[in-house]
This record gives sequence, C-alpha cells and structure tokens, in this order.
Amino acid sequence: MTTESSNDDLLYRFVQDKIDDIARRLDLPHSFRTIISQPKNELIVNFPVLMDDGEHRLFKGYRIQHNNVLGPYKGGIRFHSDVRLDEVKALSMLMTVKCALVGLPLGGAKGGIKFDPKSLSQDELRRVTRRFTVALGNNIGPGHDIPAPDMGTDAQTMAWMMDTFMTLCPPSERFSGRGVVTGKPIDCGGTDGRETATGYGTIICLQEWARHTGFDLSTCRFAVQGFGKVGYHASTALHQLGATLVAVHDHTGVIIDEEGIDPVALLQHIQQNQQLSGFRQLELQSLDAFYSSDVEVLIPAALENTIGRREAEKITAKIVVEGANGPVTAEGEEILLEKGVDIIPDVLANAGGVIVSYFEWIQNIRSESWDLERVNDRLSRTLRKAYTKVLEIHSRSGGEITIRDACYMRAMQKLATVYSTRGIFP
Ligand code: NAD
Repeated sequence: MTTESSNDDLLYRFVQDKIDDIARRLDLPHSFRTIISQPKNELIVNFPVLMDDGEHRLFKGYRIQHNNVLGPYKGGIRFHSDVRLDEVKALSMLMTVKCALVGLPLGGAKGGIKFDPKSLSQDELRRVTRRFTVALGNNIGPGHDIPAPDMGTDAQTMAWMMDTFMTLCPPSERFSGRGVVTGKPIDCGGTDGRETATGYGTIICLQEWARHTGFDLSTCRFAVQGFGKVGYHASTALHQLGATLVAVHDHTGVIIDEEGIDPVALLQHIQQNQQLSGFRQLELQSLDAFYSSDVEVLIPAALENTIGRREAEKITAKIVVEGANGPVTAEGEEILLEKGVDIIPDVLANAGGVIVSYFEWIQNIRSESWDLERVNDRLSRTLRKAYTKVLEIHSRSGGEITIRDACYMRAMQKLATVYSTRGIFP
C-alpha cells in the first residue's frame, strides 16, 4: 500500500471522479450521470461458519451489483483481509466500464469476504464459500449475476459455489445452474484458457503498445508485483517472448536478480515454500529497490493503490501495465505521465479474464466445449480491437486524452447511448 493518507477510499474516489469527469467532458445527460455514480444494489451478509476447533466464527461478505444495462451483473469474488465496502463498490464500477469497453453483453459487479484465506484449512474454506453462496441466495444466478475468481479465490472456490447453488435449484433448473459462476475447473463446465486469460491479456495489450511505439519486447527487462494467477501467467507469457524477469514483489517480500528469474521455477518454489525467501539463495530486497529496479516494463498484479506519488517517483520503466485493478493512484498517475511513462489501464489490461469468462458462460448456455486455440484467438481479437479503438481516441486528440480516459470515454458513451435509447422507467 502507498504511504498516502486515508487509503480506504482512494480507489473509490478515483473511479467515481473519473466517471464524473468523463461524463462531464462528454456532456452526457444528468440522469445517466446520477445512475452510473452509484451501484444499483449493495448486499452485505453476515454469516456463521463452523471452524475446525468446533467454534463458530462470523464472516462479513459483500456482493455489489453496479450496473446491468448491457447484460447480467459480472465480477469476481475476493477473499482478503482488506476487503471493505468502498473497495468492492469501486471494483464493481470498474467491471461495468471494462465490459462496456471490450463490447461484452455483461454488466458490472464485485464481491468479497473480509478474511485471510491463508489462515484457514481447506475444510474451513469450503464451509465459508458454501455458507456465503447460501447467504447470497437468488441474488446470483446464470442470467442475473455471475461471480468469478479474484484475489484469494480460484477454480476450486468456483466449483464449491456452483455446487452449492445447483443443489439449491429446483431439479428442472439444476443443470443450467452451473453457469452461475465462471472460472470453474474444466471438468465442472469451465473453459480451456480461463486460468491464463487475464495474464495473457495483459501481454496482448503490451504487444499492441510495443507494435505502435516500435518497442522490442524480446530484449526487454520486466518487474512483476504479485505472483498469483495474473502475475504468474503474465510473467510466463512475456518470458516466452524473450523478455527477462528481474524483480518480483509479493506479500512475503521482494527478490531481484539481474541475471533473470525463471517464472516456472519461481512458481514451484512458492508452491513448496509459500514465500519468495530462499529462492536460489537470493537475499530479500527492499520495496524501494523493487520500484527503482532497472526495467522497461512494470506489471503491478496484486492489490490496488500500491503505486502512489512516492513509488511513481522511483519508477524508471517506460510502461506500466495494470494487471491488478486500480494499482496506480491519481497522484501516482500524474507523476508517471509527467515523466513520460505510459500506462495501459486496468479496464483494458486485465479485461482478458472477463472476456474468457464470457466465453465460458456462452459454452455453458450452448452446452459447447471450445478448444484452447479458439478461446485464445477470440481473446486476442477482442482485446486488440478494443485497444485499437481506444488508441484512435487517444491519437485523434494528439495525445491530450490519456489511454485511461479514452477507455472510460468509449465505455461511458456506449452505456449512455443504451440508456437514452431504452429510456428510464416509467
Ligand atoms: P491471486 O490471489 O492469485 O494472487 C495475488 C498475489 O498478490 C499473490 O502473489 C500475493 O502474494 C500478492 N499480494 C497480496 N498482497 C500483497 C501485498 N500487500 N503486496 C504485494 N503483493 C501482494 O490474485 P489474482 O487473481 O492474481 O489477482 C491479482 C489482481 O488482479 C487483483 O487486483 C485482481 O482484482 C486483478 N484481476 C484478477 C483477475 C483474475 O482473473 N484473477 C481478473 C482481473 C483482474
């Protein structure tokens, strides 16, 4: 987290201000601006779970449904000790923008439970997930609101959610109930390519940036913050293009190796030891050393608000690719842009996950099974198309409109057009 004060609402304010600013600049109707400024539904549930020691513990869970004018609510479920209402609200707004930007018939939502999943046993995690799913009840569903994995959750979490939801469905609706979540294990109705989608998507966007700027990715050096589902798959994809991973930061520390870090070997080490420490006898380094490491590409893929003013001042990279949601604060962004550092914003850079979730959802509805080539090809075409459209807005303005603002403009214009065509009931 950055050293800026009052971190709690930083992302929420950032997204709200951005939406408000873009709506004003596009002169969108006041009614639309009012609707889009707040989520449609905010659900908070407190539910008891039996722990392994025989005691019950109360958990607080959130599901925020921001907007569904384009299609069912869609967004991940986060298990993390920092989960809070305003954070989940902000993340749900980002989902609305993201789905509209890349042209998906889906709306925006987000959910989470405030606890540290690493501190619980598998049995406890299963009971937490099942009780949360029961508490959400009919507020989720394949045609209404479709959760997916996010920080601290994975395909196993989705399998438990799906199974619980299907068990509670009437028998005739049970099978179609499996589309209630995406990011499921492939054997349970998931799709090939979902697990890698977000990380690969960040690198597809980076390749587009490199193509337009004439940058050679095959000889570049990069740093990654967060080595989970997004950070790891982004690292392997960029490593396969010839780039060298030199710095990694996760919740256990920082390692730097100028000679290069093999992402696959590092993942094996983390799976065995649950920490970076001990990897090839590398000494743990400071966070300052991570941000000032000599790299051309920086991929934040952990929590929000990690790059504020202080961190931005240290960064020497040419490009920051936001694998995480909201990693750069408003102050951090101002400094990076002043220094000439390009930013591929979250709503574009990490949209690969929701794009392939959409493919999974379609396959569930049609009882189809697509191969990896088809999934990755459609993912790549969808992201490249969105990137090109955004770049057109950016270039037409002579660079005045940032890539982030161009993303919001494209998304908000689309949402506003749908509202004005449909009208607002009654
Ligand atoms: P994950 O749980 O798989 O991995 C999280 C990583 O972040 C871990 O390596 C962990 O060590 C690290 N981390 C946690 N706290 C940290 C801290 N304080 N400092 C440094 N590192 C820390 O999560 P993920 O699915 O990879 O998600 C990462 C980010 O990407 C989140 O912002 C999430 O919202 C975003 N995202 C994920 C997806 C997806 O499909 N999983 C899609 C879009 C966006």
